[in-house]
Amino acid sequence: MNYDLLIDLHKDNKRQGPGGDEQTIQALQLAGLASSSEPLNVADIGCGTGASTVTLAKHLNADITAVDLFQDFLDILNANAKKHGVADKITTLAGPMEKLLFEKGSLDVIWAEGAIYNMGFAKGVEYFKRFLKPGGILAASEITWLTKERPAEIQQHWDVEYPEIATASDKIKVLEEHGFVLKGYFPLPESSWIDNYYTPLENAYDAFLNKHKSDDARAIIESEKMEVSLYKKYQSYFSYGFYIAQKS
Ligand code: SAH
Repeated sequence: MNYDLLIDLHKDNKRQGPGGDEQTIQALQLAGLASSSEPLNVADIGCGTGASTVTLAKHLNADITAVDLFQDFLDILNANAKKHGVADKITTLAGPMEKLLFEKGSLDVIWAEGAIYNMGFAKGVEYFKRFLKPGGILAASEITWLTKERPAEIQQHWDVEYPEIATASDKIKVLEEHGFVLKGYFPLPESSWIDNYYTPLENAYDAFLNKHKSDDARAIIESEKMEVSLYKKYQSYFSYGFYIAQKS
């Protein structure tokens, strides 16, 4: 995997995965967090360039630590935070989500949009839980089947790409098995995929290919195109589900 190329393709887009400011706010409302008087300790895991981080900072009284593997994304996040006047609420930390440096039981909220799949949902839920206070909130979006059955082509695609894909009821079961109580669930709407993620990505293809004239670069664009066309064809069968759960 050529990470430098992937970073270069994705870093100038507002989001590095499907999502939306409205959906972040909807999840916040389901979490019941909006009106805290004490600053909340929040971690945004796999934050990318910080679309959700900035929205969280605008709506919460919070100290937010934004964690991502790639410093290039965090540099842009810091610039965005300044632009939106919320830099004082955000600290960035480059590192793997598999090895977080928080104290156990120290966080009020763990946020992870389009990112927990990097370690796997069940593993992530189990690992992140230890860093939450009792009553703390985990809000994560995760690839989810919307139907009980689906066409072979899309089934096979996800069986290869992310075998942990499952229906919402199965994902909720994972949360419950790890001691979480579900506070809310909703699937991301089409606009979170197309308007907010795929269209800006498609608009970046030409400049990317002009800048990087390599087989690797062409292969990355081909694979993005394949992903977009599968989404457009099969979007009634899968989406990201947004899960908001409380540690009991
Ligand atoms: N939350 C952002 C980004 C989602 S894309 C958004 O919604 O726009 C997934 C992000 O996870 C990328 O920014 C990628 O750099 C990051 N990532 C991938 N593997 C990671 C890991 N092991 N640890 C931390 N971050 C990781």
